[in-house]
Amino acid sequence: MFEVLAEDLLGRIGRLKIRNKQAETPLFLPVINPITQSISAKWMKENLRAEAVITNAYIIFKRLREKALEEGVHRILDFDGIIMTDSGGYQVLEYGDVEATPEEIALFEEEIRTDIAVPLDIPTGICGKEKAEETVEKTLKNVEITLNVLKERGARRALWAAPIQGGIHLDLLQRCAEIEKEMDFDLYALGSPTPLMEGYRFEKLFEMIYTVRKVTGLGRPLHLFGAGHPMIFPFIVALGVDMFDSASYYLYAKDERYITSTGTLRIDRIDYFPCNCPVCSNIAPDELKEMERNERIRLIATHNLYTCFKEIREIKQAIRDGRLMELLEIRARSHPRLYQAFRWIMENEELLKFMEDHTPLSSRRGINLFNGLSLKRPRIRRAKRRLMERYFKLPGHEKNLVLIPFNRKMSFEKLKRIIGEEDFEIAYYGSPYGLIPDPLRYTYPFSQTNYPRTLIEETSENLVKLMIEQLKAGGYERIHIISSRSKYLRDLASKLLETLHELGIDSNVINQN
Ligand SMILES: [Zn+2]
Repeated sequence: MFEVLAEDLLGRIGRLKIRNKQAETPLFLPVINPITQSISAKWMKENLRAEAVITNAYIIFKRLREKALEEGVHRILDFDGIIMTDSGGYQVLEYGDVEATPEEIALFEEEIRTDIAVPLDIPTGICGKEKAEETVEKTLKNVEITLNVLKERGARRALWAAPIQGGIHLDLLQRCAEIEKEMDFDLYALGSPTPLMEGYRFEKLFEMIYTVRKVTGLGRPLHLFGAGHPMIFPFIVALGVDMFDSASYYLYAKDERYITSTGTLRIDRIDYFPCNCPVCSNIAPDELKEMERNERIRLIATHNLYTCFKEIREIKQAIRDGRLMELLEIRARSHPRLYQAFRWIMENEELLKFMEDHTPLSSRRGINLFNGLSLKRPRIRRAKRRLMERYFKLPGHEKNLVLIPFNRKMSFEKLKRIIGEEDFEIAYYGSPYGLIPDPLRYTYPFSQTNYPRTLIEETSENLVKLMIEQLKAGGYERIHIISSRSKYLRDLASKLLETLHELGIDSNVINQN
């Protein structure tokens, strides 16, 4: 039902199969109001290649019950792709209660032939601990009722998602996920409190996702309810969210706000559209401002949708290229609070380790590093670990090691003359990976890594530490360092020499221009 095709960090390209339909994850499901359908699901399929949408089972239950039971939800939306139905939990949050039982909603979702269904849950939203606890208990009770009624009914048609509630109370979230992990569900669906996004509390949201993923592992797909703005899409995917819905394209449009991948612009303050979608290519901002309000909202919503889908494609390409973390580093600059949340990821040792285990070392594209933060990327950590375990820690090294600036090339014969030794190994210094042994110089990722000189300058202290560890692991007894013409490499070499002397390791710098 779910097959992983490529992964990077905790994000993955996957194939979600539901009977004869399939969709690729990360999957974005636009929210469709079944009554108004301001932008139809059919239009989204034809123009945006939308593979899936989400709609509300409770609204259909209340307003279109007979028609839906007769024709099915796909006819109601005029959409033959994957349809997920939210249970109505959102209505509970908005209006306090729903006039339906968990049994009714569960059977209804099956009977209208939805593809992905959710039991009637009680969203936590943002509230105190006691109230939150109540929502979790009620949700768990509903979940049990739902599974029982489905069991009585016989074969399940839809994939069923386990709604995980608890909101910002991580212990409750954890408990809810732990219990549901043992239940007969096909995927998980995390309820995200919208106010977190509105208040730019991204760090909290990321913590919630990580808490859930730690419990569930990466086996079953994870859906996030109400993912909000596309600027957070790459982050939630990197944390293990496979699919998510959002109504923000329409909600922002109603507020006359124009979505970009890094933020939101007020339509009356836009002089030039920074976008090439059909809307922005065909209309000038002034013309849009003059339009009748409903038409204007429809066009802004259309642009907003194009932006969401574009972001998904960029994320997918980044996963395929092994560049998801690079995308995060860039997108983190969208907003200071997002940057802060990104720092939370980069300072969470346990999370980075989790990501490292799911990040392949190889990738099709080179690696661009920018500063010390880039060095904490799971792929870089993995490369450094490999270097240590598969080279320096292996037995049988020579006693002599000659270190050459990474940007120079010197023949073995020449080095023999310079150091006056016959047997030695060669490694390169001045790389963010510490020392690169000569046999690995032209291998991935060492030869495909780009970085500014300033990275080496800024991180020289840590680099010296790393090089010393590598030298110790290799058990070298004498280190010959060939000096460089570049000042920053000369500085690095002298720092290394100083430390080697402090440690009492026989070493010297050779000036060789
Ligand atoms: Zn546009």
